[in-house]
Amino acid sequence: MNFDPGEHPHQRFNALTGEWVLVSPHRSKRPWQGRREAPTSGDAPTYDPACYLCPGNERAGGAVNPPYDETFVFVNDFAALKPDVPPHSEDGPNALLRQETVQGECRVICYSPRHDRTLARMQPAEIERTVRLWQDQARDLGERWAWVQVFENRGEMMGASNPHPHGQIWSLDRMPAEVVKEDRRQRAFVQSHGEPLLVVYAELERQRRERVVVENDHWLAIVPFWAVWPFETLIVPAARHIPRLTDLDGAERAALAALLKALLVRYDNLFETSFPYSMGWHGAPFPGAEHAVGVQDGGEHGWQVHAHVYPPLLRSATVRKFMVGFEMLGRAAARPHRRAGCRAPEVAVGDALHRPLSRRQPRNVSVAVDVSGARIRSEQPLAARHPRHDTVPRPYAYDPP
Ligand SMILES: [Zn+2]
Ligand SMILES: [Zn+2]
Repeated sequence: MNFDPGEHPHQRFNALTGEWVLVSPHRSKRPWQGRREAPTSGDAPTYDPACYLCPGNERAGGAVNPPYDETFVFVNDFAALKPDVPPHSEDGPNALLRQETVQGECRVICYSPRHDRTLARMQPAEIERTVRLWQDQARDLGERWAWVQVFENRGEMMGASNPHPHGQIWSLDRMPAEVVKEDRRQRAFVQSHGEPLLVVYAELERQRRERVVVENDHWLAIVPFWAVWPFETLIVPAARHIPRLTDLDGAERAALAALLKALLVRYDNLFETSFPYSMGWHGAPFPGAEHAVGVQDGGEHGWQVHAHVYPPLLRSATVRKFMVGFEMLGRAAARPHRRAGCRAPEVAVGDALHRPLSRRQPRNVSVAVDVSGARIRSEQPLAARHPRHDTVPRPYAYDPP
């Protein structure tokens, strides 16, 4: 019997964190009788008087949003980190009760004044504005903090408290655990190979073409070889070494907006729902990290900027993956989505994301957006459409080029 990666349990090495991932492709055949999430309710209004992120509205605590017409940034009213905590640390007996203060800042960034937008439903020029905002914020916060984490939780399933298109930036005076793992691996790789790990990896994926979901001249979105989540992707530069988000030039920023649009539209079309995800950016720590735990310098030589996209959905808009049991107690176990046949699981994922509607054009499309976002076929309200069976409406559709 020969080894078949689409059938046989095996483990894969996550080159970025140095951890092994258990891959069990056969488990995707398991019948599902577990929890089903409520389908996402249809379209939101363009403005919601009860939304604390819409222009002109009052937030909890009494602050009032300006009547912004592009993007808007404010300090989180319920920030997890604060800049003015008094320094304190203690170890307790035998260092068993260690604790210390952490300082930082948390900001909220609204991508658009339109309550009903998502990154997938914004025009590339609007997405580019968001990318510029990420850069500006990272540059500003990077002057004071060792680590700046730009991220977005999209959808109720990922804990997003508000559908208004927004992300967050947490910055703090030390490196988070996941980043420390990636920092070590990337430093070690560039020392032994002379080139950054993700530069070499992106080139390998570009040549193999097995896991590429979307690409353009400057960026690649791939299903990483070590993916754990069913539709996990990694966004990496395709053309050059770029340590941080703040190092992108204009062409790279525009190309990133186009790639994000293409990728997120594919996600939405996969299960014909506004696809939930957690997405965030990693790049070289800022110079302030020299004083942070476990870091000697910014590590520009080894770091390549990249985004992780972690969607929770497993096999439909209402069935999600849970990281429990062995995944909590042992090691992360991949549950790749898999189509029939014997192809490697991530190849099937790539196919699913790449050609979501090629074999099943929707009959009752409400909003059809092409990759450039330029064409919108109709904007009939969702309520006017008849849902498919009793499950999920079909808010999104993408016309393959
Ligand atoms: Zn809103
Ligand atoms: Zn990373």
